Amino acid sequence: MELSLLERLVLLLVLAASAGVFARTVWARWKLFAAAKPDTRFRWRSWPQRLWRVFREVLLQEKIIRERPAAGVAHALVFWGFLAFAFISIDHIGLGFGIEVLNRTSWSVRMYFLLVSVIAVAVLISIVGLLLRRFLVRPRALGEVSWESGLIGLFIALLMVTYLLGQVYEPETEAGRKIWWAHTLVLAAFLPLIPRSKHFHLLLAPFAIFWQSRELALVPALDYEKEEFGLEKRADATRKNILDAFACVECGRCQESCPAFLTDKVLNPKMIVLDFRRHLLTQGAEEPIVGVSISAESVFQCTTCGACEYQCPVGIEHLPLIIGLRRGHVNTGKYQEPYTNKLFHHLETRKNPFGLEASVREAFLQKAQLPLYDGTQEYCLWLGCVGAYDPHGQEIIQALAKVLTAARVSFGVLAREVCTGDAARRLGNDYLFLQLAEQNVEALKQAGVRKLVSICPHCVKTMTQDWREVGAPFQVVHHSQLLEKIARRLPVPRGNGSVAVHDPCYLARHLGEVEAPRAVLRALGNEPHEPERAGGRTFCCGAGGGLVFLGEEKGKRVNRERAEELVDTGADTVATACPFCPIMLRDAMGPAGESAPRVLDVAELLAAALEPTEARPSQPSAAEDNLESRLLEFLSAHPGEEFHALYLPKQIGYTGAVSAVVAALKRLEEAGRVQGRMAGAVRLYRG
Ligand code: SF4
Ligand code: SF4
Repeated sequence: MELSLLERLVLLLVLAASAGVFARTVWARWKLFAAAKPDTRFRWRSWPQRLWRVFREVLLQEKIIRERPAAGVAHALVFWGFLAFAFISIDHIGLGFGIEVLNRTSWSVRMYFLLVSVIAVAVLISIVGLLLRRFLVRPRALGEVSWESGLIGLFIALLMVTYLLGQVYEPETEAGRKIWWAHTLVLAAFLPLIPRSKHFHLLLAPFAIFWQSRELALVPALDYEKEEFGLEKRADATRKNILDAFACVECGRCQESCPAFLTDKVLNPKMIVLDFRRHLLTQGAEEPIVGVSISAESVFQCTTCGACEYQCPVGIEHLPLIIGLRRGHVNTGKYQEPYTNKLFHHLETRKNPFGLEASVREAFLQKAQLPLYDGTQEYCLWLGCVGAYDPHGQEIIQALAKVLTAARVSFGVLAREVCTGDAARRLGNDYLFLQLAEQNVEALKQAGVRKLVSICPHCVKTMTQDWREVGAPFQVVHHSQLLEKIARRLPVPRGNGSVAVHDPCYLARHLGEVEAPRAVLRALGNEPHEPERAGGRTFCCGAGGGLVFLGEEKGKRVNRERAEELVDTGADTVATACPFCPIMLRDAMGPAGESAPRVLDVAELLAAALEPTEARPSQPSAAEDNLESRLLEFLSAHPGEEFHALYLPKQIGYTGAVSAVVAALKRLEEAGRVQGRMAGAVRLYRG
């Protein structure tokens, strides 16, 4: 094809303008990136695995197709079309200057053109489908209708149509020439839109995925010597934060799996990313982010369940961003909220989130006759705060101790342990987290501990990831992983009844362990029922991120949403593997009444199978009836006053198991004879 001199001049001007606007926009974003803080996540370590992930998630579009099959395949076809057109577009522009980049007389090039024609038809069908979905079906996850998406979809469709017509009309003909110009002008208009729109992900997603942390929700360490407090303003943003902000494709997958968003809270993880991007582009380097572009309310509604990060197809790490914003607000003393302050106060003074005295833990150690760790045992059994202070948590610990003893696995517990600092870290209080972490690491080192087993995946995550900052050389295993090995060699009777699995977010997503709890259930002879959202796609119970101690104030409660799904499985037992989940789920099962399943830890199920009659919950006995009368008598003697469930045994002079008192209170509450309410993770009762 021969263009006149004037046409070539026009072509040059059009291309220069298009490339110029493109380069200017990319340069502005590059400057933001270059000025940001270095990020420890930009590492070349494990590059073969990282490249493999890019190959699977970018080139094969594996995650996109897996999570949303229909829309995912359509998106994948558009993406593969984008790759297939790379040489075609270079050749197309070359023709304008009389350069034939692809030799059309070659057999292989003719095949290539034919293949691209087939791909062009597939892309055209896909893009029309995606446009219909976006503008007619309008799924909630895609958010507001945007003109930009429509324009880009239109451009892609026009590129395909003009390419296909170009295969019919030779460029030398008048019609072919017009089609060539139409294709060129659409290309020139499309290019500058890429970095200004969500289509920037075409260029950035491979980098965001390559440098995505290998561990979910990894909170990068702050450099205290450089007075880093978190993500308070743009100047605090790291390069990965900036890369993530511009890589977002606005697909809404994070939003549609977020328990906070799905229960009508203010928080929407997609909007956190987009509002952060808007802040980068419109605000000064020292302008605060929280309060100006993102509300504190939304940032502190996050349960840190990790569903957003797990789902994101372009490797965006929401939790370093959300926790970074919390840090910037809490570490600088700006966040003042009574419940959070109280929780921090409990952690500072009593070293546990319940604010209970260490003597409660000591009494439990004595009562349960747990051996102290003396350096000769294989494992140090980490109680954690729920295992040490919560009645049901204590039952899980006792069940685990029973199984370990039966399997002849040696273990001991520390005479004193303090909170791992999980809630402090997730809520952004780094000073408090470090205090607690250092105290624990020091105590464990002094005791000569090498291997730890914990019933709490939040503790395991904190000990294995967050404690690295203070140097923690321990091997930590979650109890379900140890039980999986043990269950195979225990002479447990075959189980019966129907058991549904509730995967704890911190186990299934954060630690990537889905199989171990199921293996334990299978060893008991149960084929686990799966709720609708299971495994890595599990739905949160609402406890994480410190919220078990703070509660929720807006919308439907997250635990209720999950409890309904578990009740729908029709199972008579829900098995879980985190001590927070039963606290949240038992409380939310109330409306299911008689049909509510029991919520038990896998350790309890295994222990019960060792001695079936002992561990199964039974109907209230005469002694328990007597307990109910004593509780009623006490509460009615103190009208208007509220009592902590854990203190009531002492107050009524009861010396038996605390769990018996809690169970009696639950029965009385269900019968409407006392009133109970959650204050964070603590249940208060009055007559
Ligand atoms: S971590 Fe969970 S609660 Fe927090 S924004 Fe992501 S999906 Fe929502
Ligand atoms: S953050 Fe990820 S999942 Fe969420 S809208 Fe953006 S690209 Fe989609």
